[in-house]
Amino acid sequence: MNLIIFGPQGSGKGTQADMLAEKFDLSHIETGQIFRDMGRGDTELGKIVKKFDDQKEMVPDDITVTTLQECLKKISIEKGVILDSAPRTIGQIDPVEKLMKADGRSIDKAIYIRLPYDESVARITKRYLCTVCLNHIVLGKHIQSQHDICPICGGLITQRGDDTPDGIAKRLKTFYEVTVPVISHYRDKGILIEVDGNRPMEAVFEDIIRQI
Ligand SMILES: [Zn+2]
Repeated sequence: MNLIIFGPQGSGKGTQADMLAEKFDLSHIETGQIFRDMGRGDTELGKIVKKFDDQKEMVPDDITVTTLQECLKKISIEKGVILDSAPRTIGQIDPVEKLMKADGRSIDKAIYIRLPYDESVARITKRYLCTVCLNHIVLGKHIQSQHDICPICGGLITQRGDDTPDGIAKRLKTFYEVTVPVISHYRDKGILIEVDGNRPMEAVFEDIIRQI
């Protein structure tokens, strides 16, 4: 089985993708994470990707597709994949579908985790990161104040660089303007599963499983 998963920032898309990967033995391919890893290396492509990441710009379609191609090459055909954040633009739909087809993979279902705009903002602004152990920390859950220290290692905590109000607004705008039309494509194909992400993650997961 091969899946694609979509959702705005804060929708818990990454967590659901991990849970689905575990349940159905899929490889979770998250292009955003791959780009961040590439940006830390010193390959030519890594340097280019880092420049887009640093400027908070979207990595161009051709680089995204090439990266995905390299990634898919390493996964045995027998193992299914869950694509997280690709295709992200209308222009990526055709090349990504061709890549999958070339490997003999069909896209069985696309999943869209919906979340109201304000809820995305509320959730992202509560996300912190420990500068020492790099654990994710949620304000109101793991810590009660932004001045608290990491509950795991006592390190200083910080917000992710682009989790500022401007950064959040920019990423959400991109999602609704650029990626939502891609989701419509899968709705038109009749393979879209839509779930309400404004619930506990277990309930969201059960809903997805029920519809798969
Ligand atoms: Zn820590």
